[in-house]
Amino acid sequence: MSQAAKPIPRITPELAPFFEAAKQERLVVQKCDSCGALRFPPNPQCSRCLSTASSWTRVSGRGEVYSFNVMHQVYHPGFAAEIPYAVVIVKLEEGAKLLSNLVGIKPSEIKCGMAVEVVFERISDEVTLPKFRPVG
Ligand code: ZN
Repeated sequence: MSQAAKPIPRITPELAPFFEAAKQERLVVQKCDSCGALRFPPNPQCSRCLSTASSWTRVSGRGEVYSFNVMHQVYHPGFAAEIPYAVVIVKLEEGAKLLSNLVGIKPSEIKCGMAVEVVFERISDEVTLPKFRPVG
């Protein structure tokens, strides 16, 4: 029996600009055109000022581990070979938070506050996933 494939994110119209940028190895988040607040995932309305005007802006890709969880259970057969793996919330230096994975480090060595930077993992012609790795 062949190994199960991982699920691939569905590219909704709301997320299309994010994935289009990721294919070009650029990390972007939504920015409120009225107050400048950054947000991710995208939302039609700003939670700070309620404006519906927004655009996408490139961010540095640098940040820190805000929180993380190490998966020890197989919730999807596509991830069975990677157990244990970490799911992290990265707080970008610009302030927005992203849910992602950390690569290049054992889950037992991950600490909140550690500096990370984005890397891009090409999954298919359509999907490239931003992931993060430790800095320094
Ligand atoms: Zn706003």
